Amino acid sequence: MSSDAMRKTIEQNIWIHNYDILRAADAIKTPTIVRGEGAKLWDSNGNEYIDALAGLGCVNIGYGRQEIGEAMIEQLNLVSFVNPFRFVSVPGTMLAKRLSDISPTGPDSRVFYVSGGSEAIESALKLAKQYHHRRGEPTRYKTISRRYAYHGTTMGALSINGVGSYRADFGPLVPGARHVPPPYPYRCHLCKNDHGCSLSCADEVERLIQFEGPDTVAAVIMEPIQNAGGPFPAPDGYFQRVREICDRYGVVLIMDEIISGFGRTGLWFGSDHYDLQPDIIATAKGLTSAYAPLGAMIASSKIANVFADEGSSPFRHGFTYGGHVISTAAAIVNLDIIEREGLVERAASTGKYLRKQLDIKLGDHPNVGEIRGVGLQLGIELVRNRQTKESMRDTKLAGWLTDEMFSRGIIGNADTRGELVIPICPPLNIELEEIDRIVDVLVEVIDLAAKKSHA
Ligand code: PLP
Repeated sequence: MSSDAMRKTIEQNIWIHNYDILRAADAIKTPTIVRGEGAKLWDSNGNEYIDALAGLGCVNIGYGRQEIGEAMIEQLNLVSFVNPFRFVSVPGTMLAKRLSDISPTGPDSRVFYVSGGSEAIESALKLAKQYHHRRGEPTRYKTISRRYAYHGTTMGALSINGVGSYRADFGPLVPGARHVPPPYPYRCHLCKNDHGCSLSCADEVERLIQFEGPDTVAAVIMEPIQNAGGPFPAPDGYFQRVREICDRYGVVLIMDEIISGFGRTGLWFGSDHYDLQPDIIATAKGLTSAYAPLGAMIASSKIANVFADEGSSPFRHGFTYGGHVISTAAAIVNLDIIEREGLVERAASTGKYLRKQLDIKLGDHPNVGEIRGVGLQLGIELVRNRQTKESMRDTKLAGWLTDEMFSRGIIGNADTRGELVIPICPPLNIELEEIDRIVDVLVEVIDLAAKKSHA
């Protein structure tokens, strides 16, 4: 395709996700990314970038892993498709064993494959609802999730999102989606009258269940370290309390491990930080490190066994491409690489290093409100005034920050789904010199942003 033809097609025919259609032409100002290796990407002009976002928080093992492509081709040459409504595949079965062995839902879990994160969430929500139907409690349809959280864009996932701008134009949404505040000690409005954190945000879950009527609530759904607006790790005891509340009222606890899964936080799953056993987890992204589209909903035996009675109706749900053989083949090699190279442990140690560098170089910056997160899921909340915590939330400023990072060779993002936060979640095998470069660029652009916002 000539470059003119490409420009015209981008202007007229491509619909970029969550992007202003009139700005599609801007996408060609950004040269096409043509190659990747480790945490680095190169564009068609030969410029080099460090990917501080691991794509979209998904390329956990880094770019350029040829062995994954080879396994996919080998699988395609054996059989290119196995109907998931009727048969099982060899890679799907092998992967299910590997996932059950490491999943916080326990070794007797059942793995239901889908194509990505939103589908995993939809599947978890539907499973929770059908589980209650099967147990003779069909009135349970409501869900409790958290404000600012992002769980995907399909109608079920969208409805449980806590990001107002994503929900605004699509009502009425799936009925029954209720929200509680996330743990946000830096701006907590709940524990004001207590001495320190009293886990009032966890108690909000109970208050909401009681208000709605326990016999109407199907599921609580949360990320272990909420990404959007955060990252928000849970304070000590938070998830123990949420687990207890769910058990007390017979509510299914679903953990969204779509970003936090597969080593991102320095343990295999985010739930592992809290010794938490969820009833269901939804996962995707790092499952294949985005070498192929794949998600999984993993159900504990407590949930799955309700579907195991003689003569009972099946989980009425499925997707043609759920657990496609090339994706499950890719996932197996991805897990091999994570294990072989110790990438979970490496995420923990590199995360500590990154956190230290951020604390040293930005910890006292007048426009840095808080640096937070776990492992390689970190973020910096920017403020106009450190004493008053005045918000710096400004979508134009965020766009400008993103562009400034890019022009300095860092693929990053300034996120305004909550307050203005710069997330840092690179591939788990990022080198320490690359971390240093990211931190240097962050210092530069945050200094510039401070001047700009005071000008
Ligand atoms: N849940 C979380 C926490 C996410 O970060 C995302 C995507 O960014 C999703 C769900 C939705 O995943 P997908 O974009 O694969 O549908």
